[in-house]
Order: sequence, then structure tokens, then C-alpha cells
Amino acid sequence: MTLKVLILGGTSEARELAVRLAGAPELTALLSFAGRTLSVADPGVPYRVGGFGGVEGLVQHLEREGYHALVDATHPFAARMSWNAARAAELLALPAVRLEGPAWAAVEGDRWLGVPAMADAPAALAGPPRRVFLSIGRLEVGHFTAAPEHDYLIRAVDPFVPPLPRARVICARGPFELAGEQALLERERIEVLVSKNSGTPSTYAKIEAARRLGLPVVMVERPPLPPLETVPAVDAALGWLDALRVKRARSGGDGGPAHGAARTKRGV
Ligand code: NAP
Repeated sequence: MTLKVLILGGTSEARELAVRLAGAPELTALLSFAGRTLSVADPGVPYRVGGFGGVEGLVQHLEREGYHALVDATHPFAARMSWNAARAAELLALPAVRLEGPAWAAVEGDRWLGVPAMADAPAALAGPPRRVFLSIGRLEVGHFTAAPEHDYLIRAVDPFVPPLPRARVICARGPFELAGEQALLERERIEVLVSKNSGTPSTYAKIEAARRLGLPVVMVERPPLPPLETVPAVDAALGWLDALRVKRARSGGDGGPAHGAARTKRGV
């Protein structure tokens, strides 16, 4: 009896989970990407690209394809997708879990200035013009038009023209290593970083590099996410899925209850 799993991706951890599931017996997984980048780096496992069309579209997709479980392994700042996923799982009574480690916590030597949202970050850069490393992706760079006096080095997956008078874009896709991150900060004479508190191990090296160099970091806190059972790492997600597979096998389940629950809850 095969357990069919949809993994909502966009992170290194989601890729790792999908790759490790590829060899698992009695389990098939599909990795889903939003399609924000110009090209998707082929994960080497079955995948799809593009939005579902909100909660309703996701519900239809899960029903149509007969999924038994949903893993939300999106980035902690991809809040809309996480809310949609939690709602769809609730409507379908579908087992769902979020793969998300804890947020990073400052340690001795860190010089963090926490802000609640990206819109608050430009104000945190107040003072004389500085050389700023924006390691926040492309989509929220527009907030920094409120602080155009700084020299920005922006790292993004794809090239783009930033709406800032003094900015340069470098293209790279994580994960990133400590030595490379420290070398970048030194070479570019960076004076302050802006980062999301993703908590993801694959992007932590820049935070460690900033600590080593004594640089301040404007740290954007995570957005609120819906309550959902959460596992902190890929191994734990594998364990959660295996437990579900065993439970279904013991109960002789075939995924039917999810569809019935959907009709009841949605009134269709
Ligand atoms: P978002 O605001 O939460 O989602 C916007 C819409 O994009 C969703 O409503 C959904 O469209 C679609 N979408 C998002 N993730 C998807 C997925 N894995 N598969 C299929 N559709 C998806 O997300 P975002 O912040 O723009 O992030 C987009 C993607 O980039 C996410 O997959 C995330 O994991 C990844 N990412 C985000 C960040 C970040 O800082 N936000 C950083 C690194 C990676 P429909 O409503 O049409 O279904």
C-alpha cells in the first residue's frame, strides 16, 4: 500500500527530503516549486512547478491526485503558501506536517538588531551611508527605496534591475559555506547585513561570518504561521511519514476518508 506525499518546496531541506524519499519503499513523493526563479534546478526526483490557485486549487489538486499526506517544507517566510496548505489539509482532513527548524538565536558576539518585518529594515539602517549586504532575495528589495543613500550588494538567484540608485546584484543559489561568505563580506567591505531569520542551516554561514567580522545584522523576524504539527529536520520528517505509512497499513486505509471529509467540511 503506497503512501503518496506532496512536498511543498523551495528550500534545500525540501529537496533533501524529496531525494531521500526517492529510494523509500511504499512511498511516492512529488516536490512542488512555486516557479519564482527563471529556471528550477532539477532536483533529480519527480517535481512540478507553479501555484495551485489558492486554497481551492490546492484542495482540488490533492483530491484529484489522491495524496495521503502533505509536507509543508516551504521557506518560513513563504507565509501565504503555509496558510493555504494548513487550510487545505484541514478541509480534507489530510495528515500534514511542517518541516521547519527553530529560528536562529543570537549567540555571544552577534550584533543583531531585530525588526518585525522587512518594511521596518530600512529604518534600522539609519545613520551615515554604509555598504549593506541584502541577502533577502529579490521580491522585497523595493522596501529599501526608503533608504536610497546606502551602497547595496544584493544577492538573488536570478539577475534583476533593483529600484535603487546605488546597488549591485550578484546571482547565487544556496547552500553557502562559511569561508566563501566571510571572503565575500571582506572583499565587498560590507558594513552591515540584512537577513531574514529563516533558521535554515543552508543559509546560516553569512550570520557566522558577520559574527567573526564583528558586523551588525538587521534580522527580520519570521511572519506568523498557522498552527500545524512541526518537525525540525529532514530525519524527523522521514520518521513522521514512516509512522503514517505504518498506521495506514495497519488500518488498511486507502486515502478515502480525506475526500469524504473534504465534501463534508466544504459543503460540496
Ligand atoms: P508565498 O508568498 O507564501 O506564496 C505565494 C504563492 O506562490 C502561493 O499562494 C502559491 O500560489 C505559490 N507557491 C508558493 N510556494 C509554492 C510551492 N512550493 N509550490 C507551488 N506553489 C507555491 O511564497 P513566496 O514567499 O513568494 O515564496 C515562493 C517560493 O520560494 C516558496 O516555495 C518558498 O519556499 C521559496 N522561498 C521563499 C523565500 C522567502 O523569503 N519568501 C526564500 C527562499 C525560498 P497559489 O496560491 O496559486 O497556489
